[in-house]
Formats: sequence, structure tokens, C-alpha cells
Amino acid sequence: MKKKEFKTESKKILNMMINSIYTNEEIFLRELISNASDALDKLYYRSLTDKKLNIKKEDLKIKVAFNKVDKTITISDNGIGMNESELENNLGTIARSGSELFKLENKDLNDANIIGQFGVGFYSSFMVSKKVTVLSKSIDSDKAYLWESEGENGYTIKEDSKDDFGTIITLYLKDDDDNHKYSEYLDEFNLERIIKKYSDYIVYPIVMDKEVDKKISEITINSMIPIWKKDKKSVTDEDYNNFYKDRFYDYENPLKVIKSKVEGLVSYDALLFIPSHAQGDYYSKEYEKGLELYSKGVLITNRCEDLLPDYFSFVKGIVDSEDIDLNISRETLQKNHQVKAIAKSIETKIKKELLELENDNREEYEKFFKEFGGSIKYGIYSSFGMNKELLSDLLLFNSSNGKKTTLKEYVERISNDSKKIYYAAGESIDKIKMMPQVENMIEKGNEVLFFNDYLDEFTIKAMNGYNDLTFCNVQDEHEDTEDDEETKKANEDNKDILNVIKETLNIKDVKFSDNLRNHPVSLTTTGDISLEMEKVLKAMPNNEGVKAEKVMMINKNHPIYDKLISLYNKDDNKELKDYSKVLYNMALLINGLSIENPNELSEIVCDMIAK
Ligand code: ADP
Repeated sequence: MKKKEFKTESKKILNMMINSIYTNEEIFLRELISNASDALDKLYYRSLTDKKLNIKKEDLKIKVAFNKVDKTITISDNGIGMNESELENNLGTIARSGSELFKLENKDLNDANIIGQFGVGFYSSFMVSKKVTVLSKSIDSDKAYLWESEGENGYTIKEDSKDDFGTIITLYLKDDDDNHKYSEYLDEFNLERIIKKYSDYIVYPIVMDKEVDKKISEITINSMIPIWKKDKKSVTDEDYNNFYKDRFYDYENPLKVIKSKVEGLVSYDALLFIPSHAQGDYYSKEYEKGLELYSKGVLITNRCEDLLPDYFSFVKGIVDSEDIDLNISRETLQKNHQVKAIAKSIETKIKKELLELENDNREEYEKFFKEFGGSIKYGIYSSFGMNKELLSDLLLFNSSNGKKTTLKEYVERISNDSKKIYYAAGESIDKIKMMPQVENMIEKGNEVLFFNDYLDEFTIKAMNGYNDLTFCNVQDEHEDTEDDEETKKANEDNKDILNVIKETLNIKDVKFSDNLRNHPVSLTTTGDISLEMEKVLKAMPNNEGVKAEKVMMINKNHPIYDKLISLYNKDDNKELKDYSKVLYNMALLINGLSIENPNELSEIVCDMIAK
């Protein structure tokens, strides 16, 4: 019989397991029991639609046994089983849990604690075993097969015999050494303790043969009450955290645990988690949202998308409802009224919990918003503001007061009867702070929101106001402060010069201003598209032509003012035009936009230098 090689990635994981860099080996039992429970779920689920199978839920179980003489532990289930190719494909390659592990940075892989937080799956059995055999018979097959491996050297599969469908996994424990006492697992109380610790909530009985009154009987070890059905008071924070980490392949505790029991038109238990960080693929197309859906403790689907709106897609968790028919096909879930009602109720609950966090623990909420604020903003602008009632109070923005603020808090701080929420958008807070319009606004006693995330401005545009207030970009021309008489006159008297500049630059308007402090020039806009939006939109496909309607402001109190006036009507205004172009390009740069024609600018500047 030919030995087969493990796939490269599987080898790596195997190696990690064999060399057992993770000290908490006892989790191997949790992993194997969890696989057995999945196999029972699959079989039970099948039996609901395939009456020929004649499976009774009460017959389904997992058995753990040990043999002190052979130094073996066996984990058996009467679940769906595996045929030859399933043994090959499922155990020869690395499964989901393992591939999550590979997404970690190498440095994290050396951290033993992190490894333990992952569902390392079947291969974890090699942490404690020198040899593992898997005898399995699929419900769809008459033949049984034996998979056997001593680790790195590969595995063999051969035909064998087994009376009933299901799987028996036998672990041949490693010999004890100075650091590891594998023989301690060959002990009734120790195995019982491990089962209770990690697998108590498994909904099928996990049985062991025990001597009771001098008779050997099968005793159920686990309580079989899933953690989401347990009373919140009887579960510790640590239990919830560990459950979350094991189940959802995270190595950090969740930021918040939401437990909800609803009884009414639809009844359900939900155990939801808000992760403390966005996992690798969260902001990518590959990310798949959804909650696990159970009915009466039986898994219907491990990812029901319809239970979560996109803007709360970061939430992980489980919903268990007796009102969902066990026979429901996964395809019809979407149209199911109960699912819709549960989704609505869950949405309200998540929002309430987030608002509570925002009010009661701002530090934690800011952490949340840093990770998932993008989803909330996206929820508003992708719906063109339809979700603003629900989501706008969850928004946080940077403010000129140096803190992060909600819109509600901003409004509470407005001391005059202004109905405006001022903001400025730019690449970074530092750059925004330096804008003359921002400096002016703050000096006049107004608070300004700093939009340094490109989504911010799109979000508030979609909201089209907050309660009865309007959002005002301080860079918008109309928000500019009134000019003094002298400047007004300068604008009147020099209309012709301004016209030459405006035509040269081909922009909406050019003005002299006395509000620019020590900046020589600055840009403002009129119309709907701001400078920041132009930048973002231009970066998107098919949007090259998008332009903000720009107004260049020239500082009336800066020496360049007199210089420009003096150049008017000289030599076809060549110098006036060249200087305006240089000034305009400087303004573009200061505002974080790119120069429109670098070659031309370079020529002009070089000519000036050469003069
Ligand atoms: P994971 O459980 O994360 O998918 P594992 O490496 O633990 O990864 O298991 C790989 C696959 O092997 C499982 O997805 C399942 O299809 C199959 N498997 C493992 N144990 C059993 C079992 N006891 N009965 C049936 N199939 C099993």
C-alpha cells in the first residue's frame, strides 16, 4: 500500500502540532468532539429530508473511551461518516480552521497562546499522539475505510470493516517525557474534566463508560445545554470569551458580548459578539457576513446572511429559534417571515447595545468605531441616506476640540442659534488644521469637524442634514467670512485683472480676500463637489472628468497682491498669466490635489529662475 503525502500547508500545521509549541494540548479533545458533533448535525439534518434514513435524534451520541494498556484514547460518533475520497480530501488537506491560522503573521505563530485560540482541528490530535487512525463508514456507503498516519511521513487509506456508519478515531498516545505526561489523559476524571470544560454545550450526549455500583454503565458527561441557551448569570465572561474565540477563529476577546432572549411573536435566543478588531478579510470582497442559525439546538446553517444587515456585518454569533421549521431549506430562508422578524429585532438590539457602549464606555466605543466605523458610514451613504435615522447617532468624527464627537454632542455644544454643523475635509488632521478657513472658523468660536476619512464627507452628503441642521463645508465659498470694505473695493476695481486670471486658469472664479491670514492663496469651491470629493471621485474608474468648481482666493494683504496688479497690461499679460498659474498650482498642492500640467509649470518656473 502506497503512502500518500500531506499537502504542503497541512505538513506545516502538522509539524507545529507534533512539536507541540502550544502547551495547552488538552484542547485536542475539544477539536475531535467538535468534529464528531458536526458529523452528527450533518446526519440529523439529512434525515429530516430523507425519511428512508430513519434516524432518531436520541440515538445520536459521541463516545470517549481510553485503554491504559494500549495507551489509546478513542472518540467515536454515529454521525455521517466519510467514504474513501472524503477521508482523503478532508484529512489530507488543511481545513478552514487551519487556513485561518495561516493568515497570521509569522511572529504571531510563535506565540503559543495565539495558536491555542484557533480551531486547529483534527491535526491537533498529533499534539498528543504518535499515531492516529480514523475508521469511518459513510452513511452513503457499504464499505468502511481506515485512515492511518504517524504524522509527517504521510498517511495510508485501506478498506476495513465496521458494522455501523460513523467514525472511530483512535489516538496512540506519545510516550511521556520530562515536559509532557501524556499518560495523564488515560484517566477517567481527567477526561471528564476536559470534556466539561470545553465541550459542555455540545447538544449531543458525550458518554463514557463508568463504573457505578460495581456495574459499568454509559454516563453522559456534558450538560448539553448550549451556551446561548444558558442563563447569563450562570456563564462567566471567560466562558463567553473562550466560546467566541474557539467558534469564530479569533485570537482576541470580543469587544462586547450581546445576549438576548426574546419571547413573543417570534421567540429566539441570540448570542452575539462584536469583535475587537476587523479580521484580515473584513473589508474585502471575500468576507461573508452571517450568523449561525439553529432551531431547537440543531444547526440549520452556519451562515445565515439574512439575519444581519450589511452595516452590522461585523457581528458574529448564533441565533436559535424554535419558530424556524427544522425542515426549512437553506434556499428559502431569505423569504422566511420569521427570519425577517428576527433580523429586525436583532438589528434594533445591536444598535441599542452600540449606543449604550458609546454613552457608557467611550474608550471602548472609539476602539469599535476605529475598526468598524467604515461599515456604519457605508451603511448611510450606500443607501443614499435611507438608513440615517438608524445609524447617524453611531457616527463619530474628529473635532477641532481635539476629541472625537458624535453629532448629537456637537449640536449640544452650539452656543448660538446657528443651525450649521461646520466641517472641513482633508488628508490629515494636521493639514485640515492649517487651512485658513478652518483657522478663521475656530477663531470665531465655532467648532469644526475634521473629516480626515474620505468616507466622512460622502456620508454626510447622503444624510442631507442632521435633524434640522445643515452641514457646511468651511471651504465652501459661501462660508467664507465677509470681506472688509477695502477688499470689496479691490475686487471691484480689479475686475479686469481677475478676469484675465480666471480665464487663464479656466476655473469658476478668482477673488481677492482678506481672510487668508498668512497664506498667499487658497482654494474654495462652489457647488456640490468639494475638493476632497474631487480627489476621491477622480481615483475611481470612469470618473476622470469629475471636477469641483474651484474659486481661487488671493490674499489681499500679501505682497503678491501688489505684484499681480503691477503686472496687468504689460507684455500681453504674459507674466501675469504665468504667475497666476504658479500660484494656482501651489494652491492645488496645499489642498492636497495634484498639479494639472507639471511640464508647463516646470517651464514657467525655470524661465523665472533663468531671468
Ligand atoms: P474543520 O473541522 O475545521 O473543518 P478538521 O481538520 O478538524 O477541520 O476536519 C476536516 C474535515 O474532516 C471536517 O470538515 C469534516 O468534513 C471531516 N471530519 C473530521 N472529523 C469527522 C468525523 N468525526 N466525522 C465525519 N467527518 C469528519
